[in-house]
Amino acid sequence: MSKKIIALIVLGMFVMALGLAGCGSEKSAAPEKKVIRVGSETAFAPFEFQDEKTKEYTGFDMDLIRAIGKQMGYEVEIVSMGFDGLIPALEAGNIDVIASGMTITEERAKKVNFSNPYYKSGLTIVVKSDNNTIKSFKDLEGKNIAVQIGTTGAREASKVKNAKVREFNNPPEAFMELKAGGVDAVINDKPVNDYFIAQSGSKDAKVVGEPLTSEDYGLATSKKNAELGEKINKALDELKKNGEYEKIYVKWFGVKPAN
Ligand code: GLN
Repeated sequence: MSKKIIALIVLGMFVMALGLAGCGSEKSAAPEKKVIRVGSETAFAPFEFQDEKTKEYTGFDMDLIRAIGKQMGYEVEIVSMGFDGLIPALEAGNIDVIASGMTITEERAKKVNFSNPYYKSGLTIVVKSDNNTIKSFKDLEGKNIAVQIGTTGAREASKVKNAKVREFNNPPEAFMELKAGGVDAVINDKPVNDYFIAQSGSKDAKVVGEPLTSEDYGLATSKKNAELGEKINKALDELKKNGEYEKIYVKWFGVKPAN
């Protein structure tokens, strides 16, 4: 082989190596996956709770926010925290979205942006199965009531005359106190009460009376990030149109959404 040919081969290999190196560096320079950090109080079945086997966060809100993330081209990272810490975390920029069965209220809407409503809820009263004295809101007067801290249930309980209201970190803890006889009633979100009783509590507890309120759940974003709020509303709309929202709803509630 002539020196010229060898030189050409070496040159060729050199060019190829450069090309490959180029590919490599292109890969590492690829844009990072876009992630939204979603804050949630994850003891609120069937909206958010930890799957016992997989340890993954699951539930209606979790499926919905993952579907919304996918629709927007974002990966979703769930950050579990106390319910009363969610809005401060959003304001501090530690999370981007709240998906936590959060009721849209005027007071909260001063601090955060809410998406369009995604679930119709309300509050109900839970008592022990053998309690025949508490049948309505009025019967709660002077009683011991358990609620979850920072919730609309806590706000409603504070309106009951002479009641002693005790705040717990989440509904399961409030239900446990009811079962133990430490309180007379729990005021909490209807779908969560119904799910608790259907899953584990039908011997111990029952719902009494009509729903006390009518509430809408919304996804919350920071007022500083209006763009994300708009994207979420758009994705929610798309999921409602393409049937994905209905699929998730039926999976968790066994019925189709009302509208
Ligand atoms: N919907 C109720 C509220 O917003 C309770 C929410 C919750 O406990 N995750 O206050």
